[in-house]
Amino acid sequence: MHTQHFYDPLRDKSPGQGQAYPNSYWASQVEPVPLHPLEGDQNTDVAVIGAGYTGLSCAWHLAKQHDIKATVLDANQIGWGCSGRNGGFVLNGTGRLSFSQMEQKWGEHTAKAIYAEYRQGIDTVQSLIEQGNIACDQSHGGYLKIAHKTHAVEQLQQQAELLSARYQDPVRFIPAQQLQAEFLHSPQAHGALHFPYSFAVQPLKLALGYARLAEQAGAQVLTGSPVQGIARDNGKLLLTTPNGTLRANKLVIATNGYTANRFFTAVDGRHFPVLSSIIVTEPLSDAQLAASGLKSGLMAMDTRTLKYYYRLLPDNRILFGGRGAIQGKHANHPVYQARLLNALTDTLPALSGIKVAYFWSGWVSVSLDDYPRICQADDQGQVFYAMGYCGSGLSFASQAGKRLAQRVAGDTSLPDLPFMQSPLPHFPLAACRRLGLWAFYHLGRLRDSI
Ligand SMILES: Cc1cc2nc3c(=O)[nH]c(=O)nc-3n(C[C@H](O)[C@H](O)[C@H](O)COP(=O)(O)OP(=O)(O)OC[C@H]3O[C@@H](n4cnc5c(N)ncnc54)[C@H](O)[C@@H]3O)c2cc1C
Repeated sequence: MHTQHFYDPLRDKSPGQGQAYPNSYWASQVEPVPLHPLEGDQNTDVAVIGAGYTGLSCAWHLAKQHDIKATVLDANQIGWGCSGRNGGFVLNGTGRLSFSQMEQKWGEHTAKAIYAEYRQGIDTVQSLIEQGNIACDQSHGGYLKIAHKTHAVEQLQQQAELLSARYQDPVRFIPAQQLQAEFLHSPQAHGALHFPYSFAVQPLKLALGYARLAEQAGAQVLTGSPVQGIARDNGKLLLTTPNGTLRANKLVIATNGYTANRFFTAVDGRHFPVLSSIIVTEPLSDAQLAASGLKSGLMAMDTRTLKYYYRLLPDNRILFGGRGAIQGKHANHPVYQARLLNALTDTLPALSGIKVAYFWSGWVSVSLDDYPRICQADDQGQVFYAMGYCGSGLSFASQAGKRLAQRVAGDTSLPDLPFMQSPLPHFPLAACRRLGLWAFYHLGRLRDSI
């Protein structure tokens, strides 16, 4: 039984120090890496806070493409945050805005530039995997967006038309009969979009691989080193940790959903940490596999307002995820595990009676206007951050790290995208964010039941 205090960014001052990984399926597959904390007073050109995909990709790109050797600090371990807890879906996008919403908001030209950036995000992940020879159990075969009710089918068809006509996306629509015959037997699968270029990974192995790559390129990755204070000192930034200080010319904040509520003025009150949870079952028997019709490597998400996502893992377990508790102190409550299990067996009734082997949660960072930012946060050009990926950030974080490195290095060839043009907006009633989430969940459940 996992009894460790569950960090809550809206209540706790810090994510702890040197904390173990959650009891996740991913953590059960890796050897623990000994902690390597910051000791004494050190100097660096660029300090990066957060050893997830964003921070590590930033450090690697700084070293490899700009010859800047950064120091990455994490309070706990490499990939202790979302990067070691996610579903491993490498998707074409981030945030919550669809391409038609982006076209309405910014016009077709900008929406197309964003599409290109998203696709580059997938390529960035693939390229880092290849350059680091990262063994992260990649599974190819594409991603399915599944209509959980008949009324969602038309919407998916329109989406496919828009994506292929305007963006030349190789998406294809799969009608219900074919979906049931070739991918899964489910009463909640009435048609789907298939995105062939998406793939899946073991997310923690990927984060550990990024860290190795960054270190080989000359960056320093220090763990067990929570940043407790950030001060400006004679034109530099001075970071305080329990066992030492780090003086830097520039600072990258890559703490995302794990950013404490009162951390640094540049990011305070600008995002909302929301819990996402995952269960992983025992391996399916051959009979269960046959009865559920699951295709090897299947990776899917449904069209609910409160979405569920699921994968058939390489050893034939099912990973099934969705929203979690509202407060950190309830994150590990069995009711959330049971809710996911019910949703799983509603989706795949042939798996009724299946046992859960792992259950864990993590904090995703939601932005007020549903899209993230990769920005410079001060007039002096010393502080940068990327956050607000709204729960879809594996490929985007890897890409954001690359863009952050360019910003830090003063590279002016960045694409002119809305993500880069402004800071994250403040939540007007920051203290009421959880009340708002509670209401959103209730409304979402109502909409999903219709
Ligand atoms: C359950 C779940 C499932 C998900 N599934 C998917 C998916 O399938 N596909 C997808 O695209 N996205 C998914 N996501 C989102 C994705 O994982 C994140 O967007 C991405 O990993 C963010 O990476 P990051 O590096 O920005 O932040 P994180 O990986 O969260 O890293 C932040 C780090 O900052 C550190 N930190 C915080 N405060 C301090 C401090 N004061 N001092 C030092 N260090 C500090 C933390 O210890 C942490 O390690 C999922 C998220 C969750 C929780």
